[in-house]
Amino acid sequence: MTETPSPARSVLVTGGNRGIGLAIARAFEANGDRVAITYRSGEVPEGLFGVKADVTDAASIDAAFTAVEAEHGPVEVVVANAGVTKDMLLLRMGEDDFTSVINTNLTGAFRVVKRAAKGMIKLRTGRVVLISSVVGLYGSPGQVNYAASKSGLVGMARSLTRELGSRGITANVVAPGFIDTDMTAALPEDTRKGYLASIPAGRFAAPEEVAGVVRWIASPEAGYISGAVIPVDGGLGMGH
Ligand code: NDP
Repeated sequence: MTETPSPARSVLVTGGNRGIGLAIARAFEANGDRVAITYRSGEVPEGLFGVKADVTDAASIDAAFTAVEAEHGPVEVVVANAGVTKDMLLLRMGEDDFTSVINTNLTGAFRVVKRAAKGMIKLRTGRVVLISSVVGLYGSPGQVNYAASKSGLVGMARSLTRELGSRGITANVVAPGFIDTDMTAALPEDTRKGYLASIPAGRFAAPEEVAGVVRWIASPEAGYISGAVIPVDGGLGMGH
């Protein structure tokens, strides 16, 4: 065992002001951890330490980490959750529609993880959790950009595992299916019905159902799991 986890860890969740990110932050908070979130707009949720940051801007990520380190100490658990969609059929998708989604979801995670790894390597412990999507491996019409960004996170976690595994750092992917948040509220009703029909569980999930899994994969109990893709999708993507 190379690791002695502190009882209350310094946790940072990007895009933790709403949706799945907020549920993840609350789950760690309930665990007794010192939780910080980044937010781009709106307010900092009650009781959390919030720093403004945009994952498309490396300087803003660096400043956010510096502020969190000053408040809570070096980040031991990082959850790269911030993400966007810009759905469009391939032939209508402009290059900017593609690259802007990659820049937030994939390059954004790279910026966050790179900054987090500096401290984790020194600590010789760390947990990296990347929030992907069932769509990353299952595919989805109209989401060539989003699916490419989310499947890229799998290669990222596995490469991180091979590069940093010997330093007590794990890197895993959590791949939610359809979760009730602002992101899925934007789906047209017939699309929503179509998805519901194909989900074995027959329902969308609550953000808290993703949050519990993220908390667990970042826990000491999961210390020998790395490079894994954990679906939280009601069975939608079985066989990935
Ligand atoms: P929401 O749209 O509810 O929230 C997205 C979050 O990401 C917000 O906090 C938003 O900040 C933040 N964000 C977006 N762009 C940036 C940026 N450039 N810099 C910093 N923060 C940013 O989404 P969900 O909660 O539904 O999704 C969270 C994650 O889970 C995403 O990565 C998403 O792809 C993934 N996911 C969601 C699923 C679902 O069914 N909902 C299914 C599978 C995966 P702000 O409030 O400022 O806009």
